[in-house]
Amino acid sequence: MSTELAHTKDCLMATTPRPDIVFIRGEGAYLFDQNNRRYLDWVQGWAVNCLGHAPEVIVQALSTQASRLLNVGPAFYNAPALELAGLLISNSCFDQVFFGSSGAEANEGAIKLARKWGQKYKSGAFEIITFANSFHGRTLATMSASGKVGWDTIFAPQVNGFPKATLNDINSVTALVNSQTVAVMLEPIQGEAGVIPVNAEFLKALRQLCDDNELLLIVDEVQTGCGRTGTLFAHEQYGVEPDIMTLGKGLGGGVPISALLARRSCSCFDYGDQGGTFGGNPLAVSAGVAVMRTLLSDGFLEASRKVGTQLAEGLSAISKEFDLGEVRRKGALLALELGSNAGPEIVTAAREKGLLLNAPRPHCLRFMPALNSVSAEVDEGLGLLRQILKELQ
Ligand SMILES: *Cc1c(COP(=O)(O)O)cnc(C)c1O
Repeated sequence: MSTELAHTKDCLMATTPRPDIVFIRGEGAYLFDQNNRRYLDWVQGWAVNCLGHAPEVIVQALSTQASRLLNVGPAFYNAPALELAGLLISNSCFDQVFFGSSGAEANEGAIKLARKWGQKYKSGAFEIITFANSFHGRTLATMSASGKVGWDTIFAPQVNGFPKATLNDINSVTALVNSQTVAVMLEPIQGEAGVIPVNAEFLKALRQLCDDNELLLIVDEVQTGCGRTGTLFAHEQYGVEPDIMTLGKGLGGGVPISALLARRSCSCFDYGDQGGTFGGNPLAVSAGVAVMRTLLSDGFLEASRKVGTQLAEGLSAISKEFDLGEVRRKGALLALELGSNAGPEIVTAAREKGLLLNAPRPHCLRFMPALNSVSAEVDEGLGLLRQILKELQ
């Protein structure tokens, strides 16, 4: 690390291990560090930069909006917020949207909305059934909703009311339903757990269970939404319409913005129930508009599915060659089981070779390339991964 930057390293809280690299700029699928060294980026800010680094449409939208209107506050309408709300509503089964700045904030909003609905229509029912190994964010309530091992005690006491069921086991959900239950909340594909998809029968059974017991079905699509899984939203592929959905990550393509969407029947906040200084901030939502227009443009999602297929085929071949485990994927969200806990070692070796990878669990790698990656970039990454695995053998 260059000496001018190294001396302030300790000024940042050490909340995550960081390599001695300072990234200076990005361009599409690539990042460049302080020595102008190039990295192929298959992390893309944790599935955030859906259009890659510094995409022209977002740069244009931000610079135009920045010179026009940065902020008016959430108690006034602004044009890009209205446009983004319209785009989200007209392309989903939902009727209303609330904008936030992070995935956790959107999920907090979903939890509050479900509890509000429970107070209004279900005699104060408040329990939200969530799932083992799920991830919903890092606020106190969303950590309590998450099923990450160890998170039940780390900042005890937890926020009450998040009993945990087992993914893809409908009986485990049914067993938790009681008069206090108001909703079931899940990721259509558990991302941080290592790209674990729900199966279609389970999600359909869950919808039925919710209908039979007057419960809200909440999908956390912070990671799976916005084209990541090959359709605009992952739940579309299961033929199930949820009551509430949250978006984050890819929605701003690198700019912090999130959204809470609800069907009219449960969109029941009263004045003052929900808010946030930066919610619907014109600058942030202008990036969201640019992203949504791009995702909805002719052939974009289809091309992104091809990126996913090419990567999956390459990973399957690599898995065979090096005797690794299964490849799981939906669209351009993929994981490769390693059959050992070599994940962190591979991530480090890959970075040294100029390839950025992520190991959400020590036993698997996760791949979140830009949705507009081109075939040559996918081949390049696969070639690098193969070389790295060979050297580590
Ligand atoms: C990343 C993520 C979150 C949290 O989003 P933040 O923007 O980090 O608060 C919530 N849910 C899921 C499924 C995620 O992948």
